[in-house]
Amino acid sequence: MLEVCGLSVSYPEFANAVDGVFFALREGEKVALIGANGAGKTTLLLALAGVLTPSEGNISIDGVKFNKKNIHDARKKIGLVFQNPDDQLFMPNIYEDAAFGPRNFGCSEEETRERVENALCQLGIPQLARRSPLKLSGGEKRLAAISTVLTMRPSYMLFDEPTAFLDPRAKRALAEILSGLPQGKLIATHDLAFAEKICSRVLLLQNGRLTAEGGIDILRNAALLESAGL
Ligand code: ATP
Repeated sequence: MLEVCGLSVSYPEFANAVDGVFFALREGEKVALIGANGAGKTTLLLALAGVLTPSEGNISIDGVKFNKKNIHDARKKIGLVFQNPDDQLFMPNIYEDAAFGPRNFGCSEEETRERVENALCQLGIPQLARRSPLKLSGGEKRLAAISTVLTMRPSYMLFDEPTAFLDPRAKRALAEILSGLPQGKLIATHDLAFAEKICSRVLLLQNGRLTAEGGIDILRNAALLESAGL
């Protein structure tokens, strides 16, 4: 279980972009993170992935708390798929991008190859291995970006606006793929139909605070959504 306990995150010019958030994500659970522009979704994901340091609170997995000293271990267990695949794909081809993480964590070339091949097959994109990320469609880039996280074999995956840049067919394909991945997932999205399709629980952020948490009926609660600026 991933537990988030009283997490707050501040930027030098903006205090409490995330403000005292508590929640838990069980293994294999799919949870939508919704909220208006500026509500703090990306900031929360960046803190969970160890990219931003919280000003208060902590994160733990299966009872092990993460701090500056063991944040390296958290990065192995929690993988973040950025909103823009171009932020995640920077090598000459997709194989090299997907191999980057395992190599960085000291996997042998053989283990790295096995992880890359598995990840690309799980995502249905083995044919993209030798393609340049610069020459892929939006949907292909999204799956390639997910492969760079899957090869790390995380227990939990965080997605920031995974449907951005996707057409309806690519969205449907992505929904099917994400539904089939066994990891616990936290999916920040403005695409409420997409959230409803794959998630069983919803967290609503408002000005950095978690103001509602519950089943997907939250996504149909027009008054609540409107009050949150959605
Ligand atoms: P969106 O739906 O528009 O992507 P969000 O819910 O992901 O928004 P964040 O990007 O986390 O929101 O931003 C939360 C708040 O933090 C906003 O008020 C934003 O202006 C502020 N913020 C984000 N990044 C920075 C930064 N690097 N420096 C200062 N303030 C920031």
